[in-house]
Amino acid sequence: MIAITGTPGVGKSTVSKVFCEVQDCNLYDITKIVKENGLYYEKDEFLDSYVVNFDKLKEFFEKEFISNEKNKSNKSVVIEGHVSQHLELDYDYIIVLRCEPKIIEERLKKRDYSESKVHENVEAEIMDICLIEALERAQNNENIKIHEIDCTNKKPDEVVKEIITAISTNNLTYGTVSWLEMYFDYLQ
Ligand code: ADP
Repeated sequence: MIAITGTPGVGKSTVSKVFCEVQDCNLYDITKIVKENGLYYEKDEFLDSYVVNFDKLKEFFEKEFISNEKNKSNKSVVIEGHVSQHLELDYDYIIVLRCEPKIIEERLKKRDYSESKVHENVEAEIMDICLIEALERAQNNENIKIHEIDCTNKKPDEVVKEIITAISTNNLTYGTVSWLEMYFDYLQ
């Protein structure tokens, strides 16, 4: 079971789709599942985002893995979403995608996000938030392995190849991406 996380706009959904096509995995999009099944406490109107009910989300996956026919095929599962690291599932890997903050900013502006939502997400990328959360999650489950990939200037299929190589050679690394020095002024 693989979680693919990263700041909104980093390319999770694009990369996860390609990964699942190439590797023939079952793909779950957390944002879609949360919205469609009402697995949230409330909608944050200011940030236009959902306050996820992680207990209910975990229940959803537990039921899904036990009952759903497609999971009896023993295919690998990819759970994609910027909060996937918070879910208390027995992931084998958490893949953290990274991308240069200015590219994330451009992509999120195209989504018509409010200025504050764009700013909050760019700040989160600069401050390694998804990676830190993934590491916190792995502290509570020693079987989870973390791998971080800088997707800047890489095509989705190149990122997918990197993920496959990292997993198959067990060459998993993190801590190599740092935007802080370059983007310190953005945080002021
Ligand atoms: P996320 O799921 O992390 O929010 P998306 O997969 O929706 O991000 O990607 C955001 C935008 O960036 C989309 O328009 C997508 O086509 C584009 N994109 C994603 N990955 C890449 C990439 N590696 N190179 C160029 N554009 C990309």
